[in-house]
Parts: sequence; C-alpha cells; structure tokens
Amino acid sequence: MSEWTSVIAVYWVLWAVDGLKRARVRTFSFVGNDSARARRLIYDRWMLPAALPTSWRLNTTDVPLALSPAGVSNQPIASTGRPPEVPARIQAWRWAELREAGVARGWLYLNGQPFCPDTGHVTAAQLLALARLAEPERERQIQNLIRGWLRPVHLRRRARVLVGRTAGVVSCNLAAFLLTLVISVYVLADIATKLGEERAAVIAGRLPIVVGVVFALHVAAIIIAGRARKRLRRVPPSSRAPGLLSPAMMPPQALRLRALLGENYFPASHPLAVALALGDRSMREQCAFNTIGDLRWPLPARADSALAQEIAAWFAAALQARLTPLLEAAQLSAGKLLQPPAPDSPASRSYCPRCRSQFVTPSGRCPHGIELAPLVRTDGSPR
Ligand SMILES: [Zn+2]
Repeated sequence: MSEWTSVIAVYWVLWAVDGLKRARVRTFSFVGNDSARARRLIYDRWMLPAALPTSWRLNTTDVPLALSPAGVSNQPIASTGRPPEVPARIQAWRWAELREAGVARGWLYLNGQPFCPDTGHVTAAQLLALARLAEPERERQIQNLIRGWLRPVHLRRRARVLVGRTAGVVSCNLAAFLLTLVISVYVLADIATKLGEERAAVIAGRLPIVVGVVFALHVAAIIIAGRARKRLRRVPPSSRAPGLLSPAMMPPQALRLRALLGENYFPASHPLAVALALGDRSMREQCAFNTIGDLRWPLPARADSALAQEIAAWFAAALQARLTPLLEAAQLSAGKLLQPPAPDSPASRSYCPRCRSQFVTPSGRCPHGIELAPLVRTDGSPR
C-alpha cells in the first residue's frame, strides 16, 4: 500500500496548491457556492483556492486610475479596500499628451512610464481611443466605462448563469471529490489492517473499480465543462476562455472546474458593485462605508498637480452620481452608514470619520492625515 500512500499524498498536495496565486495588488475575492451568493470576501494579495467543488470566485480590484474629459491620473478614487492600494507617485497626463499606452508584466504603461496595475478596468487601447476623441464624445465614453464597472444587476445575473451552467460539472466533481476522500482515508488511516484479512482482500479487489469510477467522473466533468465553456458568453476585453487541457491532464485541478470556468467570466467591476450584487448585508454595508468614506475623506495626495486634482474632482463626482441610486436601491443611506460612533470611553472627544478611531483630543488629525470630527456626547442620557 505504500505506493498508494505517495500517490494520494501527491494528489492532495497538488489539489491544495492549485489556484494559489499572489496578485500584483491586493485583490477582492468574493467566494460563493450553489446559491450564487458570496459567502466569503477576502482582500489580500494572496488568492487562496476554495476547498469545495461547488465554489466559484469573483476576483476584482479597486479601480487603479481616475479619468476625466481633461486627462487621466493614477490616483485611485472611491477605493473600497483597506488599506487602499496607492501609487508611490501620482502621475497625471492630459489626453493631448498621451502618445502611447501598453501593458507589460501586469502593469499599464503610459508614454513609456509605468502608470498603474493592469486590472482590466480599462485597457491600453481604450485609453488611446479616449485620447483621440473630441471632448463631448470622450466624456460620454468615460461615463460608459464607469457605468460598466457599476452593474450589480448584471453581475447577479451572470453569477446565476455560471452556477446553472456548471451544475453538471459540479455534480461530477463532488462525487469524484468524495470518493477520492474515502479512498484516501481508507489508505492513509490503514483501515485495511483493522478490518481483518478476509474483508481487506475483498475491498482491495474492488479498489480498482472505485478508482475507475473516479476516473470516469473526471472525464465526464471535463466533457461537460467543455460544453459549458462554449455557452458562457464572455465580455470583452476579458474575452479569453480558460483552457481545459491542463485540468484534463491533472485530475486534482479538475476538482475546481466551476471556479476555473468563472475566470474572466465576470466583467471588471468596482468592488462595491460586486458586494451590492452578491454580498450579504454586512459585506454590502462594509464595502459601502469604505467606498463612501474614501470619496468624502480621501487620503491626502502625495502630489498636488492641478491637473491631478481636477481629474480627481471630476471623477469623484461622476462616481458619486452613479453610486447614489445604487446605494438607494440597496437601502444603504450615507447618512446612516456615516453616523458618529458611540464613544468607546468617557475620555473620547473626537473620531476619524474615515477609519472610526477615537481620540481624547477635541480636534486634530488621525495618523492617516484625516481631520477629526467631534464626538457628540449625549451626556449620559442613554437612548
Ligand atoms: Zn483615520
């Protein structure tokens, strides 16, 4: 049985590390299962694989740039992530100055200089196209881009379609997963010696049949996945469908076919749109609070070029205009989300509206440079 032990060990090690990835920037991973709802939200550079074959995943990042009819800058506005990803140096270009744009090693380059991470929210070709447009049309196209990032209803529908079209794949995956788990426990816990020679011999005779069934389930899953892949319509620019050759050759990888088919399937979105579409109440509230907080109390910029400020102001107003009806539809009012916290000690005099830390000084700035707001005390009259 020792050769079985090493095969099983290799199998599960491959399964455990498959899908483990480190992204260029901190990424939101919304992980859901059959209900097409996100159960888990992780914000990290490490993207961990989900354990069960039922899981799908939607990865997205904050929008890494700001656009306006005047130009483009790499200052993120309305970030949901905490801490947000901020560039080491803020750059801004007027459209007339933009001559070339390209992507290398996951980074967007403008005029030969590294600009911002290539997150899929806008492509190099789209930026060049914007630069060539006349102003009224350019503004229309920028508004179109923003609208494309903020479509919760569309995301919800796509999640439902993904779950529906991969149901057959998941059934095969789940059966194979459970059978492999049973075989593994049987071998690794050395159950054969505890059963007695006669019964162990019977099971040893049937083990190849069970392994054959697992293999048949694997082949079936790959075939069904091939069909599902054709029926899952992808949206440009992320139109590349994931390959199935690698999971076909590597059965442990094929246990996550739903997550694999979900790659590049969702359009690049603002994390708040994903939370509104797929998150539970607390996810939606947290993401809405962070996003509105970043819009109202942005971190102090490290470069104050007039152009960067102009772009930021226009972009913030445009995002705000799109976000307001979405938040209203989700019954999330800014007034309620941003209510001052209850004082956490009798000495608390002020708080930071962005990070909610409390301070004993009546005014000043929090360590991130945000101006403190006074804590309104109710003078011991409990409500
Ligand atoms: Zn703060």
